[in-house]
Amino acid sequence: MLLVLAGEQSVAQSTNTFKSRIFHELDFDKPGKQLGYLRVPQSRDGGAWSTIEIPIAVVNGGKGPAALFTGGVHGDEYEGQIAISRLARRLDPASVKGKIVMLPAVDLPAALAGRRMCPIDGRDFNRCMPGDAGGSFCQMLAHFIETAIMPQVDVSIDVHSAGNSMEAALCSIMHWVDDAKVIERTKALAENFAAPFNVVFWGVDETATVAASAERHGTLSISTEIGGYGRVRPDAVRIAERGLENVLKWMGIIDGKPDITQPAGGRTRQMMVRDQGSYLFAPSNGLFEPLFVPEQKIRAGELAGYLHFVEEWAREPQPVEFPIDGYIWMAPGSGRVKQGDVMAVIMQDYSPA
Ligand SMILES: [Zn+2]
Repeated sequence: MLLVLAGEQSVAQSTNTFKSRIFHELDFDKPGKQLGYLRVPQSRDGGAWSTIEIPIAVVNGGKGPAALFTGGVHGDEYEGQIAISRLARRLDPASVKGKIVMLPAVDLPAALAGRRMCPIDGRDFNRCMPGDAGGSFCQMLAHFIETAIMPQVDVSIDVHSAGNSMEAALCSIMHWVDDAKVIERTKALAENFAAPFNVVFWGVDETATVAASAERHGTLSISTEIGGYGRVRPDAVRIAERGLENVLKWMGIIDGKPDITQPAGGRTRQMMVRDQGSYLFAPSNGLFEPLFVPEQKIRAGELAGYLHFVEEWAREPQPVEFPIDGYIWMAPGSGRVKQGDVMAVIMQDYSPA
């Protein structure tokens, strides 16, 4: 197979004129199933022309909508890596109408290290979009996804699971956007992904994420936060696998009706985190003892936990209270917190006003 470069490459002296330094052997328009790699150049001691090979699958069944499924954007979040690679191996292009592009371990070096931050360049991949063709490893890869993949898909599902530092209620997530129609369409996508919760949220730092890239391209998009604490939850893997297949059915890419049933009955519960008033930030450095778990119902003014100061053994722990009523969306997983770290995020039932 011919080596295909990412778009027309114009290599000039300035890095800003690169289309991409990443190369691959995939043909996104070719019918059938291709399991391959994006080759990201990574010159190193002992490997002048070395590349880091990022797994990618394209399943193309001809005319129809196109979906992008990404996992391992954070290396310490595992359910998406399992669910997407399993789906890529299993999908038969003969049963597909349209196209599915799957990257089960986007930040592969971080995934292999079980870390949030990329060990190659120290970056959080989900803070690198739209990337830079002449930038670091994560920036190059982000630029490729932004310019070569996102424009060709109608829907994007980015599977996260909160990582080592937090544990989340089992949920899909989406941003507040100005367009009410986009909000409703995205909520419908989430209801068909069918995690127990869907959270329309205000985030601390969301402009450079994969979800933000999808929004820039007008691509219908949700992410997830299923589980966390750097482990694999069996129920979260099942939610991811069913959810991805549900979305393919809902889009008409594969046959069948989405299974959107919930163990507790009803449908996905639509929630929101409207602004920073829903976040409990650490008032000082310390060891946080939480008195709550994800999905727990809580009240404003209720005791959330204690900050302990182990180096000052005679000092009483500092009590910390919840700022608003609601349910725990994110609980902390790291024990030690620094001033300004998030110790809890509270979700409430969705209301558009
Ligand atoms: Zn993540």
